[in-house]
Amino acid sequence: MRAAVLVPAAGLGLRLGGGLPKALRELGDVPMLVHALRALLAAPAVGAAVVAAPRDDVDGVRALLARELGSDAPVTVVAGGVTRQESVGRALAALDADCPVVLVHDAARPFVPVSVVEAVVEAVEAGAGAVVPALPVVDTVKEVADADGAEHVVRTVDRASLRAVQTPQGFRRDVLAAAHARSAGGDSTDDAGMVERMGVTVAVVPGSEDAFKVTRPFDLLLAEALLNRRRAEAAADVDVDAEHTVV
Ligand code: C5P
Repeated sequence: MRAAVLVPAAGLGLRLGGGLPKALRELGDVPMLVHALRALLAAPAVGAAVVAAPRDDVDGVRALLARELGSDAPVTVVAGGVTRQESVGRALAALDADCPVVLVHDAARPFVPVSVVEAVVEAVEAGAGAVVPALPVVDTVKEVADADGAEHVVRTVDRASLRAVQTPQGFRRDVLAAAHARSAGGDSTDDAGMVERMGVTVAVVPGSEDAFKVTRPFDLLLAEALLNRRRAEAAADVDVDAEHTVV
């Protein structure tokens, strides 16, 4: 097997609201986590997935995934942690597939194209210790400071060299394991950042707008629109862009 993917899905999603753990929120009647796993497993390089589920619903998530993906899908479910880092660490510890490349992908990015997943795996296979997919930053970015509750601009950052980083992030398995062992107990939300701090160069490949993270209520509208477009394309049997996963 070339690669396995760890899927942290144990977050509460408080910024999204709605009362359900974010990964279980439905888009077009299908939980976000199921969309994400279908997208990942559609990539030829990916042979297995380990999901870090909300701690109080591990059995429920296991049953859901068996129902939606089939009981023979190569998916393991473990209890997630209090922090995203702990969730990824638990999933990594439970990974028993023999593979040199490990990806980490947020359940909250349900529509990542296969082409991005493959590009990340291929960059690790080509020699990178760690790889992130990223997009240029479109907004002007300013650094601000707070003075008695009122913000003011300190400086304008040159955005030409800035990138917004997505997932899946890809790692040589030993590099990711070393980063987690070194930072145990921390609360990093970015695995590649942990690897950077070990002095390992992190390579960058192009990301995709479709791989956006569902964080706030507005993102649900965007996700539903994207899903409807893909379903309409599939129904019309038009020449669907090969990178799109049928959902
Ligand atoms: O909250 P945010 O969108 O940044 O979380 C990113 C990903 O990390 C989500 O898929 C979320 O479910 C996951 N997560 C986790 N365990 C936590 C917190 C977040 O698996 N304790």
